[in-house]
Amino acid sequence: MDNYNPFIGKTYTLFGDTKSTGQYYSTIRSLTNQLIDQFSWSEQDLLLYLQKSSRNRRFLARELRQNPLKSRLGTILNHLHETLTTYISGIEKHLRSEPLYKFITDKTILTNRAQYYSYMIEIELINRLNKKRFLECNYKIALLPYCLRETQTECKSVTDEIDYYCRKCLKSCFINKVSTLLQENNIHPYIWRTIRLKSLLSQLVQKYHDVGVMGIACIVELTMGMRSCQKADLPVIGLPLNANRCIRWMGDFYENSVDLEELKLLIS
Ligand code: SF4
Repeated sequence: MDNYNPFIGKTYTLFGDTKSTGQYYSTIRSLTNQLIDQFSWSEQDLLLYLQKSSRNRRFLARELRQNPLKSRLGTILNHLHETLTTYISGIEKHLRSEPLYKFITDKTILTNRAQYYSYMIEIELINRLNKKRFLECNYKIALLPYCLRETQTECKSVTDEIDYYCRKCLKSCFINKVSTLLQENNIHPYIWRTIRLKSLLSQLVQKYHDVGVMGIACIVELTMGMRSCQKADLPVIGLPLNANRCIRWMGDFYENSVDLEELKLLIS
């Protein structure tokens, strides 16, 4: 695959210490299956447990530091830590460098290691639970992050009544590659720049009734967006960016990518 170089983000990289992201996805699938088997949970039960536990970032961090035998959550987090630590490369350095006021103004940027582990499994579980219903929807929309575009050229995307869409000016641009794959599968790709998620979704539901949503974003943003769609009872699926490298995290825009093979699997 051209233009598929390993990227390191501010807090995470799905490449880990390899040259591709395939190992990350096979690890996440395997860990999710192990948790379901170990605790005899359904996918839905495990999802609810992780969503509830991950609301309190300090509690989750404490459980990760605990002796794994002391609690069920501690056992789960320590098990995830053994395998996933390689993907969360810069988290402690990032958290140490953030100013105190961010604890009030931007809590998502302060997501800690234990929350990352939980969110990674959460995304996998929501995809498993929603994929069939998403694919059966009359109208399917995908919201792509602007930071996935080619950064070396001026983007030619234009807006319609929903938001910006890609004009496919550059073959190497990841938004172009992703948009093409999505359109081949009858999913309408938009570059999410201006519209508010809540009002967009209610407009689409009024118009099409049966609406499926796909998101691509960094792990934290994606998890929050998927939860919002779940609250609105919309079948949502999502794919994380290979690293978090946008201006919000890095102070400027840097090239990014997404696993196109995993995207094909998710939408077919
Ligand atoms: S290919 Fe699309 S998203 Fe990429 S720079 Fe061109 S118009 Fe923008």
